Amino acid sequence: MKRTRVRLYVDHPLGQGQSVPVDRAQAHYLFGVMRLATGDRVTLFNGRDGEFPAEVQEAGKRRGELRCLEQSRPLMLPPDLWLIFAPIKKARTDFIVEKAVEMGAARIMPVMTDFTNSERIRRDRLQAHAVEAAEQCGGTFVPEVTELVKLDRLLANWPDERQLMFCDEALVGARETLGNAGGDKWAILIGPEGGFSDAERTRLHAMKQAHSVSLGPRILRADTAAVAALTLWQATLGDWG
Ligand code: SAH
Repeated sequence: MKRTRVRLYVDHPLGQGQSVPVDRAQAHYLFGVMRLATGDRVTLFNGRDGEFPAEVQEAGKRRGELRCLEQSRPLMLPPDLWLIFAPIKKARTDFIVEKAVEMGAARIMPVMTDFTNSERIRRDRLQAHAVEAAEQCGGTFVPEVTELVKLDRLLANWPDERQLMFCDEALVGARETLGNAGGDKWAILIGPEGGFSDAERTRLHAMKQAHSVSLGPRILRADTAAVAALTLWQATLGDWG
């Protein structure tokens, strides 16, 4: 199927023949910026129903209408993998969210750790980044970005059956890998630029679900570490084949 120039996330049910209203912001983008006109095609997904080409029925300045054609791809869920990370500077945090979507994380969870500097995040802004990344990478699913929580609270309620890949900079150069760990529910934990505290490390080592992993012989920045860890997990246990 021919690729369209525009791939758009909409929060609306999709199905063959379904009409999809275009709001003001989308009308500005589709008909103003991208100059689409009646009869042109776009590609739609909503994170639930798969992907559909759609034809522009009405292209107004402030509103419009699209109509779905035959489904082009079914919904494809990523593996049940959470990415838990400590927010860093704004641009690097944005990068982590974008890469987590491209790499196929199912949920993106910012956490406050002992050495986390930034105390606030704009969840809605990070969620919008996740939507944009899904539009760009051809994903049919948009991972949820959760509210910032404290790491100790998250660990206190940790689900029994979820394995945790603990990326520990103290293991730099060690040979700790995922080995033959199994299970189909996972989370990756990446620390802030300041790394983990001794208290956090002790606590994580005591968890039966935690697998301490080294990401090689060099200390990576948190954003690099997130991509490296997602790559390692996807290649070992995930959907790379
Ligand atoms: N300031 C710390 C480094 C923190 S790096 C120090 O100098 O020791 C930020 C995060 O990336 C770490 O908390 C860890 O989760 C991950 N990370 C970076 N390099 C790593 C490595 N070689 N092995 C495992 N995790 C690593």
